[in-house]
Amino acid sequence: MNARSAKEVVFRGGRLADGRLVDLTVRDGVVHVVQAAIPSSPDDEDLCGLLLLPALVDGHVHLDKTFLGLPWRSHRAGPTVRHRIEAEKAGRGDLGLSVERRALNFLDRALSRGTVALRSHVDIDPACKLDHLHGVMAAREARRGRIDVQLVAFPQSGLLTAPGVSDLLDAALREGVELVGGIDPIGVDGDLDGHLDAVFGLAERHGVGVDIHLHDPGYQGALELRAIAERTRVLGLGGRVTVSHAFALATIDAKTLAITAEALAVAGVTILTNGPGPTPLIPIETLRAAGVAVAAGSDNVRDAWSPFGNADMLERAMLIAYRAGFRTDEGLATALALATTASATMMGRPSHGLAVGHVADFIAVDAETPAEAVVDRPPRALVVKAGRVVARDGSLVRENVSA
Ligand SMILES: [Zn+2]
Repeated sequence: MNARSAKEVVFRGGRLADGRLVDLTVRDGVVHVVQAAIPSSPDDEDLCGLLLLPALVDGHVHLDKTFLGLPWRSHRAGPTVRHRIEAEKAGRGDLGLSVERRALNFLDRALSRGTVALRSHVDIDPACKLDHLHGVMAAREARRGRIDVQLVAFPQSGLLTAPGVSDLLDAALREGVELVGGIDPIGVDGDLDGHLDAVFGLAERHGVGVDIHLHDPGYQGALELRAIAERTRVLGLGGRVTVSHAFALATIDAKTLAITAEALAVAGVTILTNGPGPTPLIPIETLRAAGVAVAAGSDNVRDAWSPFGNADMLERAMLIAYRAGFRTDEGLATALALATTASATMMGRPSHGLAVGHVADFIAVDAETPAEAVVDRPPRALVVKAGRVVARDGSLVRENVSA
């Protein structure tokens, strides 16, 4: 008789980052034992010495925007944020695939590449109202248990300048959306205090987190960052507020950077980057050294904003490392941490990684070290979500996937 519990799975012969070969026992979806050579069973999953890494976590996507599943669409938008907002709205009508279908395509691709949790912003504006949100929620439901999806009610076209959006955000939060979004309080809405009053007012009223897109450049952007940090500190929202992009941090002088970084660190505001080009990259190491949490996400994946992106966070880690000049093993490990543990922490999942007591979310890849995995981006031989194999050799394990 097999003495093992029916809910126990053993992953045999995986290699940890420090080179140790281990057998991983998972019980009820949680890592229970990590040790060399426990008694074997025919049901074990043999990892054949593959490298084990924490599962990937994508801290910033737009599930409702992607064209995945559609024929190639040429990029048409102009160079500014406003150009892209308008080009995207103009093209919405002729997409031919529902938000739900395109979001499913995104989720399946992300999962096959080892992402088991992601945060998606969802457009809410006077034209689409909550339609995109409902499409994304349906996709989230269809993949529940395989990939965890956290949603941000995102006022892409502005909050104060677009009529009725504040009420729509309120309605989205009543439907259980986890975070309220914002966008360029000065650049889009032209009213820093008014925008932040609305965003943080909604956060307080609904007890949710905040994630603000900030493209505003230079000293204006830095001023906005400090205002966001101050609101976060006063409201005690540390650890629950993210500023995505924060391009301003890349172009201000060292003294202003130090003051701004300190304000962000004290308040507990996370900065999220996708390593964008050609915009100057934020100073990741300086921020981390100052105590600022930095996380990573894909942002746009083949949509009206960008033809680039493939929902692969190992590739995103490589792009960030490449742009940041991270060449040492430590630097490459930092890039990987942004795409795994740091993004998980931002999403309120601090126990992410291959340790006893943590949820068994991990990937196995053919690489010698984490640094090589970032540089090479090998196919994901195995993707494991809460102890269950959900993808193998880059393809989804299809049982229980309805569509
Ligand atoms: Zn975005």
